[in-house]
Amino acid sequence: MMMGIEKKIIVFVFISESLRGARVLVTGASSGIGEQMAYHYARFGAQIVITARREKVLQQVTEKCLSLGAQKALYISGDMSTESDPDKVVDFALEKLGGLDYLVLNHIGVTRFAMWDGDVNHVRWLMKPNFFSYIQMAWRALPSLEKSKGSMAIVSSMAGKLSNPFTAPYCATKSALNGFFGSLSHELAMKKSNVSISLITLGLIDTETALKAVRGIITTPAYPASEAALNIIITGATRQLELYYPWYTYVMNLIKDWYPSLTHHLIQNALNYNP
Ligand code: NDP
Repeated sequence: MMMGIEKKIIVFVFISESLRGARVLVTGASSGIGEQMAYHYARFGAQIVITARREKVLQQVTEKCLSLGAQKALYISGDMSTESDPDKVVDFALEKLGGLDYLVLNHIGVTRFAMWDGDVNHVRWLMKPNFFSYIQMAWRALPSLEKSKGSMAIVSSMAGKLSNPFTAPYCATKSALNGFFGSLSHELAMKKSNVSISLITLGLIDTETALKAVRGIITTPAYPASEAALNIIITGATRQLELYYPWYTYVMNLIKDWYPSLTHHLIQNALNYNP
């Protein structure tokens, strides 16, 4: 003890066997990081429900999950910008898997990579898939996660910690996620809840959507989606509060408050912008 504060050294050990048979719901799993997470969970022998809007693609992903070793792989299509689909998807997973051990919220609604043009309605709409559906699904799944000593992973972004140009609506939704789930995480701990929340901060990842959006504008390297996906899974399985991937997101987060002008300079100089 040091002045009443107990010093704890916590070592996180990931045991892949712990995911065998685990009941998992991954959103936004028809492409990108979500799809890669589905494949990793499958290799670990988990039971998976995946969701997104495109049914045909989801079907192909579940087939691949089964071939990779998933104990179960099911899909349900849903539009997370609607009021009813977030609950519908969680209820489907709870029913088909008999409960949940992991809830991985990862989907995002389509938005433009461009200077904000004053379209308030778009921001209002984007909050539905990117924020409101997250809190709705988390609340719906909480009783089951409580029973199973489960975990939630909330896939956020560097843009939720440090604003970037050309993504104002997106930054707003990711900041909202960090604020909300940061607060919920405290409350669950104070209630001695069994459920852990992991907040995921990602930098540029080489998914088709991201690369298409930033092509010719951002020069920083994009990191592999498969590696990002594996890191998210490990963070959830080891019940860590946060993941920063890749490494530079942690450094940027540390320096942003100490050197705001330098941070602004670095961000603006990482962009090719010639009006
Ligand atoms: P993708 O665009 O590859 O995947 C997005 C997923 O969301 C797709 O499965 C898409 O499927 C689904 N989706 C889109 N709209 C809806 C909707 N209305 N309702 C339900 N599902 C929907 O994204 P990434 O893999 O690149 O990103 C995944 C996560 O990682 C996001 O939370 C993102 O913010 C975060 N992130 C990504 C970064 C990157 O550089 N890639 C950087 C920082 C954070 P469908 O079209 O079939 O609905």
